[in-house]
Amino acid sequence: MKGLWLEDRRISYREDLPAPAPAEDEALIKILYAGLCSTDLEMAQGYYPFTGIPGHEFVGLVIKDPEGSGLLGKRVVGEINITCGYCLACKSGRSTHCENRSVVGILNRHGVFAELISLPVKNLHPVPDNVTDKAAVFVEPIAAALKIIQQIHLRPEHRVLVIGAGRLGQIIARVISLTGCDLEAAVRNKNAEEKLESAGIATRPVADLHPNHWDIVVEATGNPQGFQLAVKTIRPRGTIVLKSTYKGDIQAELSKIVVDEISLVGSRCGPFLPAIRLLEQGRIDPLPLISAEFELQNGLEALNKASQPGVFKILIKN
Ligand SMILES: [Zn+2]
Ligand SMILES: [Zn+2]
Repeated sequence: MKGLWLEDRRISYREDLPAPAPAEDEALIKILYAGLCSTDLEMAQGYYPFTGIPGHEFVGLVIKDPEGSGLLGKRVVGEINITCGYCLACKSGRSTHCENRSVVGILNRHGVFAELISLPVKNLHPVPDNVTDKAAVFVEPIAAALKIIQQIHLRPEHRVLVIGAGRLGQIIARVISLTGCDLEAAVRNKNAEEKLESAGIATRPVADLHPNHWDIVVEATGNPQGFQLAVKTIRPRGTIVLKSTYKGDIQAELSKIVVDEISLVGSRCGPFLPAIRLLEQGRIDPLPLISAEFELQNGLEALNKASQPGVFKILIKN
């Protein structure tokens, strides 16, 4: 099988990978498109202890399924946490924090930068006919953005700031704008600004951010400066939502968090069905965020392109 392979912090393209052997409860899926996100870039740079096929955003076609799944021949997207179903976290309704979990392309489980993947049927969701393959790749990051609304109450009168207008921040701003709150997105360049404004989202240059102003600040830059900016711009008793991971440690004025009684909320994977619904109803159009598309055999080039500034979503086509 063809695919990308990550080992010893080095990523390579290979044509000799073993095809997945689906377990009893798993379907075999032919990947149609995969999407690159910042986590993949950090993994390719060796920030995660992972050996195997990376990649976790995809749409695929079920080519083999367990009897009675009803998924054969269907296009599907897949939730990325493979959970045990019997640990305390699973039994308490926190299955994305399953103590025995594996995560597609991130933790103890091969990912989607390959021709095929196998996944438990319970992780799969059919894609509605009116959602294109390319749009369906965005289900995972849209779900991640929806997680914010699951976690905190965004009131219509709230002033909300999204910091980080990159591939995830763009999607977060689109999802949050559906709540009707007073939303602004901090931007550093014209390209990011235009993408947001064309989606009806107000922007503000980073140099123009007031201190102690926003009720809720969503930090999606993945760099320490973004976190520092979030701490600076949040109002007393406001909430900062952290939506990206950081390489290494970060420095910030943590006393402000104590004195101003700021809430910090970490936020990761979200619900797939509402994300699919938003695409099906045409309430989010992610297609303008696609910067380029590469064939699987040019996957290394795709990673390279995705790491350049001003590039949004890169797709890998099978
Ligand atoms: Zn991702
Ligand atoms: Zn579990």
